[in-house]
Amino acid sequence: MNKFSGIGASGGIAIGNAAIVKEAVVSYEKKVIDNPEQEIKRLEAAFERFKEKTEKMALSIEEKVGEKEAEILRGHIAIAFDPALSDEINKLIKSGKCAEEAVDSVCEQFIAMFASIPDEMMRQRATDISDVKTRLLQILTDNEPTDISGLAPDTILVADDLTPSMTAGIDKENVLGILTKTGGKTSHSAILARALEIPAVLSAPDAVDALTDGVVVIVDGEKGEVIIDPDEQTVEKYKKLREEYIQAKKELSKFIGRKTQTADGESVMLFGNIGNPEEAKTVKSFDGEGVGLFRTEFLFMENSSAPTEEEQFEAYKAAVEALDGGSVIIRTLDVGGDKEIPYLGLEKEENPFLGYRAVRFCLNRDDIYNTQLRALLRASAYGDIKIMIPLVTCVDELLAVKEKLFTLKSELDSEGIPYNKDIEVGVMIETPAACVSADILAKEADFFSIGTNDLTQYTMAVDRGNAKVAYLYSEYNIAVLRSIKRIIECAKKEGIVCGMCGEAAADPNLIPLLISFGLDEFSVSATSILKTRKIISLWSKDDADELANKALSLTRESEISALLKANARK
Ligand code: PEP
Ligand code: MG
Repeated sequence: MNKFSGIGASGGIAIGNAAIVKEAVVSYEKKVIDNPEQEIKRLEAAFERFKEKTEKMALSIEEKVGEKEAEILRGHIAIAFDPALSDEINKLIKSGKCAEEAVDSVCEQFIAMFASIPDEMMRQRATDISDVKTRLLQILTDNEPTDISGLAPDTILVADDLTPSMTAGIDKENVLGILTKTGGKTSHSAILARALEIPAVLSAPDAVDALTDGVVVIVDGEKGEVIIDPDEQTVEKYKKLREEYIQAKKELSKFIGRKTQTADGESVMLFGNIGNPEEAKTVKSFDGEGVGLFRTEFLFMENSSAPTEEEQFEAYKAAVEALDGGSVIIRTLDVGGDKEIPYLGLEKEENPFLGYRAVRFCLNRDDIYNTQLRALLRASAYGDIKIMIPLVTCVDELLAVKEKLFTLKSELDSEGIPYNKDIEVGVMIETPAACVSADILAKEADFFSIGTNDLTQYTMAVDRGNAKVAYLYSEYNIAVLRSIKRIIECAKKEGIVCGMCGEAAADPNLIPLLISFGLDEFSVSATSILKTRKIISLWSKDDADELANKALSLTRESEISALLKANARK
């Protein structure tokens, strides 16, 4: 029996037999082409077949999972037909390369570019292009693609990476769990596994390497654990845990339609975080009361040029309409740091997290920012949209944005375009500077939302993506806890709403402290909404205060963490 760990990307426990699935290795011979026109025709036919086959796979996913997930595959068609890619391929063919080599080398260039960006969404783009490349080469070389629709019952699918096209072939009756070498929580394979409700552990290379076909394996998608060749006792233990998980899930569905309130009846708001308008529907399906963070940079990352005012207007309008009366807090472009957008032409910096990014960039780029603010104002005529500014460090930034809005509003007035004249403008409190000056900011802002992901990074001076210093990256540090408490106090003093949209808002260990500090709004990922509602319902203000006082009397992260874990209610 051997135990390994990876990233728990889709909850639940699966016990089954490993089936190692390998991507067909497509090999081809490099040839010099003397008739490029004919070669381009061959390539175009391959593209057409790719489109046809992908559309078929998308339909199969649409039936098995849903429309949103099918969009991932339809996105592959968009990638393949993106002129940025096809123009380069054609150029290479015209220079005498065969279609296979041209596809291979252009795709590899794009893969290398996206894979070098330390952002999961961008790395996902690299996986997508790699998937497109493999399938195009399979077509060009007449190679059969991996077919996983015929796997035996009780299978744990083991692969280097689970590509969306592979996922299309999964038969949920037979595939109980998924285990891969690469991929993160927001990779497409993770999204699809969650949508199919198949437990999945990703990024567990040692476990994948240690497995052979047919070996019994346990996948714990909650904890991110993999057990290979378990003894009988362990199998029994995990069967019990599996039952408990299924029960707990049923239990959580009871929280749909309930108010979000503490054990002693204090109501708070429970919102969801989204990256595109489609996800607003998911938030609604988990009974989220609104959206506490719409990360608009994903609209910018999905395309090879900035989305137009019209495109953004449609996206923001669709999000607020999906919430059916609920508020939608839309964060203006938070570019830079770990979120690169190649076409914006940002230069490489020594310290990207401390550099020209987010509101600093936007205030210098009227072309980008005015377009976004106008789209936001226009969409505000269709529902309760609020504007949120990221990475604020001083009140000047907030005032500058408000000034811009003032000018844009009069522009819209003169054009006779409707918008919400009282649209709220809030700030994300995610830097120590914003925390220390929260009393000043609260006088000018309509609301706060605490971004604990960055607040922890900047407060502890620890890069949130650097594994070597990850031991310092914890919200349980007294400096971070005191900051959170102070920010909420400053908001209360000025009578403005204080929310939290960082990951900490869904942390069961931290929720009692947030209740005690008086947080008004919790914004969490869609799948955490019901669990968060449940945890909030388990704490009275008095109990939460008692725990918070104890926690704040301690000094070491390890002590605070142990106290919070020991007292966690589930
Ligand atoms: C945060 O910093 O807490 C946050 C919610 O924003 P992001 O994770 O997008 O930086
Ligand atoms: Mg942030």
